[in-house]
Amino acid sequence: LPPIDGDFYEYDLKLDQEYRAIQLKVRQFMETEIEPIANDYWNRAEFPMQIIPKLAALNICGVAYEGYGCPALPFVMEGIIAEEIARVDVSISTFFGVHSGLAMGSIYLCGSEAQKQEWLPKMQKLEAIGAFGLTEPNVGSGVAGGMETTCEETQDGWILNGQKKWIGNATFADVIIIWARDIKSNQVKGFLVRKGNPGFKAEKIENKMALRTVQNALITLTDCKITEADRLQNANSFRDTAKVLRMTRAGVAWQAVGCARGAYESALKYTKKREQFGKPIAKFQLIQNHLVEMLSNLTAMKSMVFRLSELQDQGLLTDEHASLAKVFCSMRTRDVVSRAREVMGGNGILLEYDVARFVADAEAIYSYEGTKEINSLIVGRAITGYSAFV
Ligand code: FAD
Repeated sequence: LPPIDGDFYEYDLKLDQEYRAIQLKVRQFMETEIEPIANDYWNRAEFPMQIIPKLAALNICGVAYEGYGCPALPFVMEGIIAEEIARVDVSISTFFGVHSGLAMGSIYLCGSEAQKQEWLPKMQKLEAIGAFGLTEPNVGSGVAGGMETTCEETQDGWILNGQKKWIGNATFADVIIIWARDIKSNQVKGFLVRKGNPGFKAEKIENKMALRTVQNALITLTDCKITEADRLQNANSFRDTAKVLRMTRAGVAWQAVGCARGAYESALKYTKKREQFGKPIAKFQLIQNHLVEMLSNLTAMKSMVFRLSELQDQGLLTDEHASLAKVFCSMRTRDVVSRAREVMGGNGILLEYDVARFVADAEAIYSYEGTKEINSLIVGRAITGYSAFV
């Protein structure tokens, strides 16, 4: 039988040998260390802390950043890594994306030289874990204009007050990037809040039906004092926050590709083994149609994100480029995982057949880092010249 591989248009051939080796190293790690435990940790809604040193040894954090111990590889490789991780476990890929993309990215793009020197080398080695607090209980999509968390400058630094919701890794992170509106200037500023800082509380959000392995938290900041040295020195308005999101939304689009690919490959394998009416269900035309729909979506998504990262590598990536890929890939992934579940019949809803986890996790991809509607409005504004947000 032909091999089961979601890379139908051979994008792997576009990778140099050195990059292909990194891809295969990540794949092997995911298949040997994560796949056997993924469903169990997801089911128990716990994070496998023991994997962190092994993940660190792969040397893939901040993979596209320059300096500070980061490998400075092309953004295409950052995407390939996100795909490989999500292909096995979207939760681990989210943990990684929050740490390496959102948290390290905020420091890389908005930190002073001293802040980069302090945090990035140890975050690159996963000796310090990062989180990123932007969304709030009352404001998600409208956070740019409606942020309720405040910061106020005092004689000896800043005081933060407010709440942040959904913040991944925040229950155990060493540094949490908190975005807050300055009472005086009304501009959004960023802060490096250290673990254990008085006035900072992170409570785990329970009962999620997606990304259960990720530890999302409700953060409460009560007169939380932060020194001026821990204010992100180059974050002066929401425009700077948006620079980080532009970069990470591209990563989420790649994550969607990984999620779809994991589901497609599991489903294809299953249809070759599962027999009904005396033959493998892969021999039925209607099943083949589902598989081809999945593969065409997957291949279109992969082509799109590959080009997206090429634009990023050329310094040409815009917000609308990243948003279009996020919209398209998160929609198509929903379709792929749903067909994958369908061709597996009843077993499609059992965790041990793997696809059920992808079905659930695709829902989180669809909504985080800007919902489908919000990313559509970003593209709509760019192509029509009219903002339809309000
Ligand atoms: P809302 O903004 O309340 O939106 C509800 C619905 O209304 C959506 O369908 C939305 O598209 C629609 N809508 C809103 N405005 C408009 C409009 N103008 N036009 C049309 N439709 C509109 N945030 C962080 O800061 N850090 C994290 O680490 C993080 N991790 C997350 C992990 C998970 C698993 C999840 C689910 C979320 C996470 N988030 C995180 C938050 C995430 O970014 C928000 O959930 C997302 O931005 C949507 O905000 P909301 O949930 O408040 O939905």
